[in-house]
Formats: sequence, structure tokens, C-alpha cells
Amino acid sequence: MQKHNFNRRSFLQVITAGTLVAGLGTVGGVAAVQAQAPVPTEPLSEADSLATTLGYQKDASKVDTEKWAKRKGPEGEKQFCSNCNFYQGDIKQIEGKAYGQCQLFQAGLVASAGWCNSWVAKIGKV
Ligand code: SF4
Repeated sequence: MQKHNFNRRSFLQVITAGTLVAGLGTVGGVAAVQAQAPVPTEPLSEADSLATTLGYQKDASKVDTEKWAKRKGPEGEKQFCSNCNFYQGDIKQIEGKAYGQCQLFQAGLVASAGWCNSWVAKIGKV
């Protein structure tokens, strides 16, 4: 009985510690991935699976606002990658348009004039 209790206690301690380490590992892993992921050099394809899922358009004026109502109306029309909290700033000109890295997309650079449904206002930009 004593051994059973010890094993159960040990098991619970291991699970608790493992959960804590896993949680920290996830947070650290995200930071590590962001820190080590290579910066894309080519534009993100609108046909990319995540881009499609989030309704990314390199030209925000082409967003189907019936489908993506977040960008509808006067307030929605102010939303661009350039003033999104996930946009890391212009780093490249492609065909005369500014592109930069988005924290959500590793598959390519997003257009400064683009938009997706994960848009979140950058404080002080809208
Ligand atoms: Fe653009 Fe923001 Fe969407 Fe990234 S999350 S594609 S920066 S609107």
C-alpha cells in the first residue's frame, strides 16, 4: 500500500512537472521558431492553404467583404497589413509594391497593402 501511494505521488509529480515543462517548451519553442525561422524572400501566394483559410489578399481592396465582413465598411477599409500588429515592417519592394514579414505566415512575404482576417490593429496606426 505504501509503495502504491509513493508511486501514485511520484506519478502525479512527474505529470505536473511534465506539463509545466511542456508549457514552457511551447512558449520557448514559439520564440525559438520565430527567432530562427528564415525570412521569406518571395511574396506569399494567395493560394497558400493558410492564406486561403484566412482570406489573405495582396490587394486589400479585392477582399470579398461579403465573405470577410471584418473588412466591410469605413472601419474595415482602414485595415491593411501595414497597420496590422503582426506586420514586421516593409523589407522589400516587389513589382513596385512594399512587402514585409508577417508573424503568421512563414511561407512568404505579405503585401503592405494586403489584408487577412487575422488583422489586428497596431496601436497608434489606425
Ligand atoms: Fe496582413 Fe496582419 Fe493578416 Fe499578417 S495577420 S497577413 S500582417 S493582415
